[in-house]
Amino acid sequence: MIATTYKARLQKKELVAENTMAFYLEKPVDFFFKPGQYLDVSLIDPAETDEDGNIRSFSIASGPADKYLVVVTRMRDTAFKRVMEATPLNTEIALEGPFGYFTLHYNPMKPAVFLAAGLGITPFLSMLRHAVVQKRFQQLYLFYENRHPEDAAFLSELLEMKALNPNFRFIPTMTGVEHSKQPWSEETGTVDGHMLSKHLTRLRGPIYYVAGPPAMVAQKRKMLVAAGIDFDDVTTEEFVGYLDV
Ligand SMILES: Cc1cc2nc3c(=O)[nH]c(=O)nc-3n(C[C@H](O)[C@H](O)[C@H](O)COP(=O)(O)OP(=O)(O)OC[C@H]3O[C@@H](n4cnc5c(N)ncnc54)[C@H](O)[C@@H]3O)c2cc1C
Repeated sequence: MIATTYKARLQKKELVAENTMAFYLEKPVDFFFKPGQYLDVSLIDPAETDEDGNIRSFSIASGPADKYLVVVTRMRDTAFKRVMEATPLNTEIALEGPFGYFTLHYNPMKPAVFLAAGLGITPFLSMLRHAVVQKRFQQLYLFYENRHPEDAAFLSELLEMKALNPNFRFIPTMTGVEHSKQPWSEETGTVDGHMLSKHLTRLRGPIYYVAGPPAMVAQKRKMLVAAGIDFDDVTTEEFVGYLDV
């Protein structure tokens, strides 16, 4: 797939978790991508800018069969995000892509284990939405770590997917549930070797995918290797530029 530049109109903005917004962009007719890939979003003539500029990379959260291209981000106080949030519907935004090789392995007999913290969920959401459409029989596991349920984007959609796809195991976990107003009865604490062993039939065999800020990715890779997983069975996507999720 060759990366190309497009202009696409903003169609919808939706709050999907605390301070977290999904942006729905019209999908150019000749834009094709694989689940897990990302694109560069550029603001055209923004009202303000800062030293970090007007371009950000975002994993595509929608599936290839979906009507829109969806990107999701935490709404922090930067010029780019202030402008993005204030952008009226129907405004043109420049896109470049698709980019990246963070895509699912070919052998469907090998399970895939996804490790996401916070917005690291975006490339996996695309893969999972695609798996639902394709009715893939591959075993897919998603360990999804957030501070509390209010932070966890797409939690209810993921729970619905779990009900629809018997090959999808969803293990959400919260690290700061004591600060939440919502009840929580599933896993708590960070994803570690112990939690993996509890939910996976065997640790060696699956291909592991980790997405999120570089520090989180490095920490999870170290944890996986310490748990006995082959370094070559771990694929990562670093959200460079992101300090926290
Ligand atoms: C391949 C790839 C895929 C990516 N995919 C995504 C994606 O799907 N979604 C996404 O959002 N980003 C993604 N990114 C990262 C994205 O490109 C931006 O770097 C990121 O969103 C940071 O945006 P920002 O520069 O506006 O700063 P932000 O990190 O949003 O904001 C920085 C400001 O917020 C403050 N801040 C930091 N942490 C907190 C906190 N916890 N609470 C309050 N304030 C805080 C900082 O002090 C600073 O002032 C991806 C990057 C790559 C390379």
